[in-house]
Amino acid sequence: MADYPNVQLHIAGEWRDAEGGKRIEVLNPATEEVVGTVAHASINDLDAALAAAERGFAVWRKISAYERAKTMRKAADLLRARADTIARLMTLEQGKPLAEAKGEVMAATDVIDWFAEEARRTYGQVIPARGEGIYQLAIKEPIGPVAAFTPWNFPINQVVRKLSAALAAGCSIIVKAPEETPASPAELIRCFLDAGVPGDVIGLVYGVPSEISAYLIAHPTIRKVTFTGSTPVGKMLSALAGQHMKRVTMELGGHAPAMVFNDADVEHAAKTLALAKFRNAGQVCVSPTRFLVQEKVYDQFVASFTAHAKAVKVGDGLAADTTMGPMANDRRVPQMETLVADARSKGAEITTGGNRIGNKGYFFEPTVVSGATTEMRGMNEEPFGPVAFMRPFKTFEDVVTEANRLPWGLASYAFTTSGKTAHALAAGVDVGMITINHLGLALPEVPFGGVKDSGYGTEGGSEAIEAYLNTKFVSQSGI
Ligand code: NAD
Repeated sequence: MADYPNVQLHIAGEWRDAEGGKRIEVLNPATEEVVGTVAHASINDLDAALAAAERGFAVWRKISAYERAKTMRKAADLLRARADTIARLMTLEQGKPLAEAKGEVMAATDVIDWFAEEARRTYGQVIPARGEGIYQLAIKEPIGPVAAFTPWNFPINQVVRKLSAALAAGCSIIVKAPEETPASPAELIRCFLDAGVPGDVIGLVYGVPSEISAYLIAHPTIRKVTFTGSTPVGKMLSALAGQHMKRVTMELGGHAPAMVFNDADVEHAAKTLALAKFRNAGQVCVSPTRFLVQEKVYDQFVASFTAHAKAVKVGDGLAADTTMGPMANDRRVPQMETLVADARSKGAEITTGGNRIGNKGYFFEPTVVSGATTEMRGMNEEPFGPVAFMRPFKTFEDVVTEANRLPWGLASYAFTTSGKTAHALAAGVDVGMITINHLGLALPEVPFGGVKDSGYGTEGGSEAIEAYLNTKFVSQSGI
């Protein structure tokens, strides 16, 4: 593929190959063809990135929030201008339809603008003193160089939240971006550098994830760790960060309950939830995964949702009429096959889908599993693919118990016309986010994060920048 680059590392202001020249191949998940390569960092490369992050921090923290914000806004403008080219790279490496890729790039410009604005609002406090002439100040300072680890499902979105918050706060950052989808995050970072962020402030590396995280997290230069990915890896990285007393933000998996009540607008619920379910082929941490539908409307909901699933047009993300691309890598297809076979063997009905499509590219049919029980693997393991598990419920208490049964607590969805039910759900479901009667998650200005095994910290809203700031207390008398 002529227009896909051989992606380089960015270290100390320079785009460069890895020491020793090691590279790994990048595949197009729609064709399984090699589209390009990505540089594979060595420990010496990481040392160079760490030294740059130290220098970059010393420089960037002294630049005023006002100036940092101006530079960030310029990066957002560059990203807007380059959105079509970057979206195409993302589709080639990740598989999602071009319109979704473009949507992700444009959403990233919003995230940058939001954090640029937040940079100027990192207010401290003046605390009334006990003695005359004493000022007690709580001031905010950037925490220091950040190590960020991001996955392949949203190659730009997962980077931009961390990068923008860190830069807004005055931190330098080393991003370990996904090896499977490396080009679009590299182009995001290029926008920041072209906008004028000093070269030492942003490092970009790829390589063996476990080697890079073990080295960076333990290194004294790094003061903050932020990770998006699976819960097992998140727990490992949190433990390592704990050993070295590093602050962490963890945005991990989920198994989102989508609760549809008898009094809901069922057609609206089915249409809205199908849209959310099959976006990015279901490879979304907040994707609705356990569809819990009250008995009276269960059959209607399953029929309507199944019709929407059948209408999804699966194909190469570059084709204009595609509404769902392939899954992003070869690990996902066998996982979907396993979950569907397990459900079938335990008595579920597959109302549509259930199979791999073709034998080239990681395509899987939009799939609906009706009559799911809590014994089935798909009701206990995060599917991370285009398979929807449906189960009827009787009472409000039943559905809340099921919603809270699993160790995760990231997103949840509900459809009801009762204000009382909506209110009780908001209080009763143990999650970081709940959206009722519409899809309202993941805007830059609202909190984004989970509880329990879904991690901690928020990557959106006015608290997000706090994760990159220390509070320093200054007590000063007039003498
Ligand atoms: P995985 O758990 O091996 O990897 C998930 C991500 O973490 C990848 O980006 C990977 O590069 C990174 N990673 C893995 N080990 C690491 C380490 N030791 N240090 C630093 N980074 C590390 O699995 P996978 O096959 O890529 O994805 C499988 C599961 O991961 C999915 O089923 C889903 O549950 C979860 N996942 C979640 C998100 C999310 O947005 N929360 C994104 C991608 C994957």
